[in-house]
Amino acid sequence: MKHSNIPIFIQHMGCPNQCVFCDQHTITGAHSFCEESVRRDIDAALATMGDRTCEIAYFGGSFTGIDREQMLRLLELGQEYTERGAVCGIRLSTRPDYISPEIVEILLQYPICAVELGIQSMDDRVLAASRRGHSAADTVQACKLLREAGIPFVGQMMIGLPESSGQSETETAKCICSMGACGARIYPCIVFQHTALADMVRSGSYSPMSVEEAVARSAAVLEIFDAWGVPCLKIGLHDGQGLHDPDTYFAGPHHPALGEMVRSRVFLHKIEAVLQTLGGVQEKAIQIAVPAGCISMATGQKKENKLRILEKTGAKSVKILENKALCGYNITIDVL
Ligand code: SF4
Repeated sequence: MKHSNIPIFIQHMGCPNQCVFCDQHTITGAHSFCEESVRRDIDAALATMGDRTCEIAYFGGSFTGIDREQMLRLLELGQEYTERGAVCGIRLSTRPDYISPEIVEILLQYPICAVELGIQSMDDRVLAASRRGHSAADTVQACKLLREAGIPFVGQMMIGLPESSGQSETETAKCICSMGACGARIYPCIVFQHTALADMVRSGSYSPMSVEEAVARSAAVLEIFDAWGVPCLKIGLHDGQGLHDPDTYFAGPHHPALGEMVRSRVFLHKIEAVLQTLGGVQEKAIQIAVPAGCISMATGQKKENKLRILEKTGAKSVKILENKALCGYNITIDVL
């Protein structure tokens, strides 16, 4: 059975922070919040769900930092829908430093499916340069509290923040895995208008990543999540999140198929690694089996992966086909 989130964006409420990349109005597209409108949004989404299972997902801000009374009302609303059997529970996003023993005690009273933590980086230099207002130690503590309470958490991280490097990003991914995350999200850094990061671009103190750089660095991180068996729920922002509007988007690696390109790069690396173990395949026909539904991803945008393999190996032909027994990014190669 398919599963969906019903995203309810709770904008910037209660957030005193000023992360350099954040323009919360832009990212969520939300401008107001009231319980009745949340109910309307949930009911409208439920009407389109068919037989999918779903969760109410309070996204977009720092849920556990909003006005306490409003937070409790929203949790109770989620509980009401859960008890009615309309949804499986509640998912919420928040900052690591907004998880405390008291918050965990509150969350334990409600049907929480997962807490999505905006970890962004485990490198204190990167966190400071991004003006996140919390440290890596805060994240370690938040994950410990959630883990010990048995509340599943997802680690959200960003690629290409100020002062960040490929190495600091792969270290962050390893930390997210070792701290016990049940899932991950990867967000290559987009520069929005009216943010401190846009000013940094104008002053020359920050250079946004190219699409290629974002793909390569995100793929390196995705390979770590894959190796640890931590599912990656999303790569990149939704295409509709103001990314086509010049009043909203300023700079950075926006591509509508960014997630697919990253996953495709991981397939390419897997294929290249297996080919290396096979020795020369010049003038041979190569048959690559990939999991069901992954042929176009493994082939690459505009057959990029296939062409690269042909060029690099001198093989006579490359055929990519499905093998339902495979999963994840596992592949097998036959040389004919
Ligand atoms: S904590 Fe979240 S909502 Fe607040 S400024 Fe940072 S990114 Fe924006």
